[in-house]
Amino acid sequence: MFLIVHATVGAAIGERLEPPAFSFWAGFLSHFVADIIPHGDERSGRLLFCPERLHWLVILAIIDGLAAMSLIAVLWLGGFFNNAIGAMAGALGAIMPDVLAGFSELSHGKLWPHFARFHERNHKLINYEIPLVAGGVVQFGFFLVTIYLSR
Ligand SMILES: [Zn+2]
Repeated sequence: MFLIVHATVGAAIGERLEPPAFSFWAGFLSHFVADIIPHGDERSGRLLFCPERLHWLVILAIIDGLAAMSLIAVLWLGGFFNNAIGAMAGALGAIMPDVLAGFSELSHGKLWPHFARFHERNHKLINYEIPLVAGGVVQFGFFLVTIYLSR
């Protein structure tokens, strides 16, 4: 799932919790729940994950991560979050599993191999892949439901 969706879910949960450490870990756990939902980017991840295309995956992840943090900042500035520190901690926690899994992949499995396997296996709990476009619709819908429920 895109980081911008994970970050929004993490922020919506984290905003409701104190202290920020709880927000962070609640966001972290929310990542695994959200990843269970078939979300369509598994195939594109596999296509990009080869040495000659890896830079595109890294660039996409950086853009996605920056967009996620920008959105959280915009929502905070717009008065959407009462507890901005909790929201930011939840968002950071929610994107952290993909950051850790990414570093594990870049290290060829030398960093956190058990965590990376758990993260990958979690994606396949519902073993049903959907096309990227359908996944985009699912992710956008999930994003909108999160925004709606957290009002
Ligand atoms: Zn993930």
